Amino acid sequence: MKYFIGNWKMFGVPKSINILNKINLFVSKDLNRSKYQVIITPPYTLIQNYAKYFKKKKISIGSQNCYQKDQFSSNTAAISSYMIKSVGAKYTLIGHSDNRAEGDNETILRDKVRFALKNNLKVVFCIGENKKEKREKKTLSVLKKQLVNVLNKKFNKRKIIVAYEPIWSIGTGELPTVSELKKTTSHIKKILKIIFNQKSPPVLYGGSVDESNIEMFKEIGEIDGFLIGGASKSYKKFIDIIRNYYR
Ligand code: PEP
Repeated sequence: MKYFIGNWKMFGVPKSINILNKINLFVSKDLNRSKYQVIITPPYTLIQNYAKYFKKKKISIGSQNCYQKDQFSSNTAAISSYMIKSVGAKYTLIGHSDNRAEGDNETILRDKVRFALKNNLKVVFCIGENKKEKREKKTLSVLKKQLVNVLNKKFNKRKIIVAYEPIWSIGTGELPTVSELKKTTSHIKKILKIIFNQKSPPVLYGGSVDESNIEMFKEIGEIDGFLIGGASKSYKKFIDIIRNYYR
């Protein structure tokens, strides 16, 4: 099973549901539809509406983040996994580089993953090195640290997906090479196998994926899907990504 996850970031109002309707229509008619799953993470404001509307359709809804406490707390503007789950989301991103840059450290991330799983959300855990770390050839060690410091074998690996998103590639149009990606993805899977004893959870790639460069990923069988930011705001681009991937 491959995953195509659209991360809308700070985008979308109620009528943006039209974008998802078009994607849903495509998926319901697509002969390849049993091979993949579409997940969209709109902003918090739209989750309830969209999750209800797409409940029996081809798109699952997730959140882009969650707070590091269970149920309710006195933190202004915070939204917990419990609250997210209660409005119908099935997934949450955790550890996106935007949120790491805003202060999410590994202690916080561990709590986020723990409470998300406790509240029956599937976790898309994002990791990735920055430009300086890549230049200094620290990519593999940075990724290892990001994984082992947050994930542990007590977490249910069937509820976890890992998204490798090199920070220098997000929103920039810059991509790793095929051989870099093969090497990095195998490395991530090797570490995950050690953390979880044997089988690795799915590992996705994210960073400037679009309808033209998706072709290059076909030859990287190790990659279990994609986390798509900018291109997920256009139904045409998002559909073309899926179409071109299976062409
Ligand atoms: C993201 O922010 O998760 C992302 C992958 O963005 P983009 O596709 O725009 O690089």
